[in-house]
Amino acid sequence: MFPELEKVYTPQHIEPRWARTWVEQRYFQAAEPRPGKENWSLVIPPPNVTGSLHMGHMLEHTLIDITVRWQRMRGKNVLWLPGTDHAGIATQMVVERSLAAEGKSRQEMGREAFTEAVWAWKRQSGDRIREQMIRLGASCDWSRERFTLDAGLSRAVREVFVTLYEQGLIYRGRYIVNWCPRCQTAVSDLEVTHEAATGKLYQVRYAVVGEPGTYLTVATTRPETILADVAVAVNPRDERYRHLLGRHVEVPLTGRAVPVIADEIAQPEFGTGAVKITPGHDANDFAAGERHHLPQLVILDDTGRMNEHAGAYAGLDRFAARERVAEDLQQAGLLAGIQDHALSLGRCQRCRTVIEPRISTQWFVKIAPLAQDAVKVVEQGKIRFTPENNAKIYFDWMANIHDWCISRQLWWGHRIPAWYCDRCGTMIVAREDPAGCPGCAGPLRQDTDVLDTWFSSGLWPFSTLGWPEPTADLAAFYPTSLLITGFDILFFWVARMIMLGVHFMGDVPFREVYIHALVRDADKQKMSKTKGNVIDPLAVTEKYGTDAVRFTLAAMAAPGTDIALAEERMQGYAAFANKIWNAARFIFMNLSQFPHLAAVGSEVTLRAQGDHPVDAWIFSRLNAVAGRLERSLAEYRYHDAADTLYHFFWDEFCDWYLELSKIRLQQSEGAEVAAANLVAAFEGALRLLHPVMPFVTEELWQALHRGAPPYTTIAFAPFPRSDGSAIQPEVEAGLEALQVVVSQIRSLRSFWQLAPKAPLRIAVAWRGQERQLPAIQAAAQALANAELVPVERIAAQGLGFVTTPGFDLQPELRGLVNLDAERQRLEKERATHATRLATAQAKLASEGFRQRANPGVLAETERIAAELARQLEHADASLRALAEMAKN
Ligand SMILES: [Zn+2]
Ligand SMILES: [Zn+2]
Repeated sequence: MFPELEKVYTPQHIEPRWARTWVEQRYFQAAEPRPGKENWSLVIPPPNVTGSLHMGHMLEHTLIDITVRWQRMRGKNVLWLPGTDHAGIATQMVVERSLAAEGKSRQEMGREAFTEAVWAWKRQSGDRIREQMIRLGASCDWSRERFTLDAGLSRAVREVFVTLYEQGLIYRGRYIVNWCPRCQTAVSDLEVTHEAATGKLYQVRYAVVGEPGTYLTVATTRPETILADVAVAVNPRDERYRHLLGRHVEVPLTGRAVPVIADEIAQPEFGTGAVKITPGHDANDFAAGERHHLPQLVILDDTGRMNEHAGAYAGLDRFAARERVAEDLQQAGLLAGIQDHALSLGRCQRCRTVIEPRISTQWFVKIAPLAQDAVKVVEQGKIRFTPENNAKIYFDWMANIHDWCISRQLWWGHRIPAWYCDRCGTMIVAREDPAGCPGCAGPLRQDTDVLDTWFSSGLWPFSTLGWPEPTADLAAFYPTSLLITGFDILFFWVARMIMLGVHFMGDVPFREVYIHALVRDADKQKMSKTKGNVIDPLAVTEKYGTDAVRFTLAAMAAPGTDIALAEERMQGYAAFANKIWNAARFIFMNLSQFPHLAAVGSEVTLRAQGDHPVDAWIFSRLNAVAGRLERSLAEYRYHDAADTLYHFFWDEFCDWYLELSKIRLQQSEGAEVAAANLVAAFEGALRLLHPVMPFVTEELWQALHRGAPPYTTIAFAPFPRSDGSAIQPEVEAGLEALQVVVSQIRSLRSFWQLAPKAPLRIAVAWRGQERQLPAIQAAAQALANAELVPVERIAAQGLGFVTTPGFDLQPELRGLVNLDAERQRLEKERATHATRLATAQAKLASEGFRQRANPGVLAETERIAAELARQLEHADASLRALAEMAKN
C-alpha cells in the first residue's frame, strides 16, 4: 500500500524534517577517497560571520546546491566545503557598536579583552548562518566546516606570510595608502568606492622668493594640504617657467620656502601648468617626491584632524581646516579664485567616510610576479570562466594591478607575524613566536597590525583542506572542480585565490568559475534596507516553501542577466510543487488496486515495459528531458533546466500522461503494465527534479518506495541517463497530435456550448499520423467523450469545421445544436463585434486621435480592430454554415 499523503501540500510540514534528517544522518559528508570513484569538490564563498543570509546568498547557494546534488547523483564523491569568514573590519565594527551601546569602548578594554569579546560574540551568533543554510537544504559536508580564524587556517596564513616574506614578495615600507579616518586603518584600492561629486578648485598664489610681486599660481581641491607642500613642479618643456627652475617659492601661510622643480607630473596644457607637490597626502606626489628625493610632511592624524605640523590649524578637523585655510588665503590676498569642480571622491567601502590619501608604514605584497603566473593559467585554459567575458575583465585588471597593502590597523584578524627589538632595531618575521631578540636577547614587541581579511580568504581552497600538511583531502579535492560566486568579488577574492593557489600549490585552485547574476527587486532596483525593498530569504521560504524559492531563483538565473525577483513567481512555483504533490496523490490512490506492483529498482533505465504508445511517449520525453538537463547543468544554464522540468511536469506528465494513464488503469487489459510504467516514470521524473526541488522530491520518492527505498535518500539515487535510442520522434509527434485533437474537441464543445458528457461524432482526416491511430482514437474518445470516424478527406466543410497542420475535423452538430438559439447567439455576438469594430475604426480614421495618441496606444488600437474584423468574419462564416444546415 502507498502511504496516504496530506490533502494539501504544506512545505512547512516537510522541509524542516528533511533538513534535519539530512544533517543528522551525515548524508553529505564526502567519503574517504577511493580508486574508481571520481572526486568532485567546491568550496563555499565564505559568508561574513557577522551576517545573516540575504537573497544573494540564497541564489548562490541554490545554484551551488543544484550542481552539487547533480554531481553527487552522477556518482561522484562530492565535497561541498562550508565555512565563514572572520570579516575583519565588518565584524570589528559590529562588535564595537554593540559595546558602545553598553557604554564600553575597544580602547578602554584593551586588545586582549576586546578580541575575547569578539570571540564570545562569534560563538553566540556565528552559528546563525549554518542554521540558515541547513534550513535551505544546502547539501554541505558540515564535518569539514571551517572558519578563517580557526587554528588550522591561522597556521596556513602564517606559513604563506613568512614564505612570501622570505621570497621577497612581502615587504614593509612607508607608502601612500588609502586611509579611513573613521575605521582608523589603511584599506586597499578595492575597498575604496569612487563616486562623482562636486568640489571646489582653489587657485592659490605662491610668492617667488627674491622677486617681490611675482607669483606662481597652482590649483588644488584640498587647500589644507598646502601645509604639507614640499615643492612646486613645472614641466621641463614649459618655456613660461624655465627661468624659475632652481628658484624657491613661499608656501602660503607657512613662511616655508620650497624649490621649483622640473617634472612631467606638471602638464603645460592643464591649469596654469604649475602644480604643488605634497608627497605625504597624494599618491602621484608621493612618486614625484621619490624621484626628487623630497622630504615627506604629514599634517593629518589617524582621525583626520590636523596634527602638530599644521601650526595654527592643529586640532581642526580636515574639512574645518579646509574652510579656515581658504579664508586665510583670501585675507592674505593669495587666493586667485575659486571654481566649482567635478571630481571623483573616494569613500570607505565599509563606513562611507571620505578616504584620505596619507603616508604611513604598511605591509605590502609585491604583486606583479604572482599576477604574471595567474594570468598564464587562465590564458592556457586551465581555468574556464562562464560567462566568458569575465576572463577579459580579469586580464585587464591583472595587467594594471598595484602592490597590495595587506596590513590593517585593526584588532580582529590574523596578527602580522613580525616582531621588533627596540634595543637593537632588529625585525624578525617568523613561523613560531620568538622568545626574545636573537641579536641582543632583549624584549620583543609584535607588530600591532592584522592582515587584510582577503589575505586569509585568498588561501581558502587549500587552507580549508589542511595545507600546509599534505593531507588526504588535499590530494583528493585540490584543485577544486568549480567556483560559483558573484562578480563583485572577482578581484578581491577570485583573482587572489588564483595568484596564491598557483604560487603555493603549483596548480589552479579551481578548474571552472561560474559568475552568477545579482538579485534585484521586481523593478530591477538594488535591494537595500533603506529602500525597504529587501526580500528576506527565510521569510519567503517560510511562506512559499524552500523548493518554490529555489525553483524561482533557478528559473530566473540566465547567465549574465540580473534577476528581477518578484514574489508572484514564488507563488507560481509553489503551485508547481503543489501540482507534483497532487500528481503523487493521484498516482498513489489509483495504484492502490495493484497490491503486487513491483518496486522500482535501484537503477532507472527510463525504458517502458510493453509497447503501448503512451508509455513509449512518456519515456521518450523522459530521455529527452534527461539529456537536455545534462547539457543545461553542464553549461550553468539553470534557467533552461528549470524551464525544461516545469514544462515536462506540468504540460506533459500531469496534464496528459496522468489523464491517459487513468483511462488505461480502469481497463481490464494492460492495466498492470500501465501501472508499472506509471510508477517507473514518476520515479525517474522525481530524480530529475531532485537537484532543484530537493524537499518535495525526497518526501514523494520515499513515499513512492513504500518504506523500502533502494537508497537511503533520493540524493544518492543515480541521476537518470538519457538513452538516445529511447527517444522516438514519431511517437512524440503522434501524442502531440492527440493533444491537439483533444484540445480542438474541447474548444468545439465550449464554442458550441455542448455539455461535456454529450456524445459527439467527429469525422477526422489525418495527414500522416495513421500509425498512432488506434491508440489516439481510444484516448481521444475517453478524454473528450468523442467518437472519431476516420475518413480520407472532408469534402464539404460544414458547421464547426476545423483544420490544423496534422488533420481536419468535421463534428456532426446536427441535433446537438439548437439552430434557432445558436443563430440568435451568433447574431448578438456579431452585432457586438460590429459595434466595437466601428468605434475602433472611427478612432483610427480621426486625424486628431492619430496625432495625439502615443505609438503604443495607436498600435494597440490597430491590433484590436484587426482582431474584431477577424471575429466578425468568423461569426459571418458560422452564420452562413448555420443557414446552410437549416436548409437541409
Ligand atoms: Zn571606514
Ligand atoms: Zn635586539
